[in-house]
Amino acid sequence: MVRIAIQSKGRLNEESVVLLQSIGITLEEAKRKLLSPSRDFPIEALYLRDDDIPQVVAGGTAAFGIVGMNEVAEKGARVDVVSHLGFGGCRLSLAIPKGAAYDGPSWFAGKQIATSYPNILRKYLDDNGIDAKIEVITGSVEIAPAIGIADAIFDIVSSGSTLISNGLVEVEKVFVSDAVLIAKPDLSTQEREILDEILFRIESENLSRDKKYLLMNLPETALEEAVRILPAMRSPTVIPLSSPGWYSLHSVVDASDLWTKVRQLKAIGAEGILVMDVDKIIL
Ligand code: ATP
Ligand code: MG
Repeated sequence: MVRIAIQSKGRLNEESVVLLQSIGITLEEAKRKLLSPSRDFPIEALYLRDDDIPQVVAGGTAAFGIVGMNEVAEKGARVDVVSHLGFGGCRLSLAIPKGAAYDGPSWFAGKQIATSYPNILRKYLDDNGIDAKIEVITGSVEIAPAIGIADAIFDIVSSGSTLISNGLVEVEKVFVSDAVLIAKPDLSTQEREILDEILFRIESENLSRDKKYLLMNLPETALEEAVRILPAMRSPTVIPLSSPGWYSLHSVVDASDLWTKVRQLKAIGAEGILVMDVDKIIL
């Protein structure tokens, strides 16, 4: 059976399961199980700690995995990053105690930096010609300066509130991460086919995200202007109504443009505007 490794619990677990569900891969309820087959797709999920996912995929125990790009880079695993999935966004940053006189990356020379990401940090320090000491700690990195085991930290930041509550300030953003779909190199023909199908479905899912389907009635005189307002994928669908001189116009718009477009369409005489969610767009 072809396997996809996903995080067993933690920040990426739920969104990984939801993403798979949204592309028609429904996993059997698998609380406390290591493996769970999909009911509707020839794949089974292997639940792991996120740290283990890059190696398990590189080694071929799972053909695919969903994991943070930070873990892929840190482990240096030989895997292909096949898609960025649009969730789990965060960055790895250097942070120092609030109030320290920071004058650029050379501040770190001779300092001790606590982190769970020594490889990414080492590369940054080497690239910038900084000689600093790395203290590897696996949890609660942000308390290291306060308890005196480091001068600074290199850790995951998303909103920055954890840093603030520990009296730290972010001074260098080093690595931007999001959740990615990874694949082992040298896929078999069957695995390649499964990956192609997954990527096809993810693309359709991405296309339909934040899209709205709009339909409305319009007098014939407004048609030309309406087509200009609503470019659509090829062009909007225009269907004559049974009342002479009136048409129904259908199109897809970005959710962020919805209210501007509605305002413009109302202004040219659109009536009975219906707005619906788009489930899938398949080109
Ligand atoms: P595990 O038990 O699986 O080892 P973990 O504690 O190492 O889990 P989580 O905190 O669940 O990891 O984070 C998983 C991933 O989520 C991170 O590696 C990162 O890619 C992403 N992430 C996004 N935002 C954040 C954040 N604010 N803090 C931590 N991780 C984040
Ligand atoms: Mg982990």
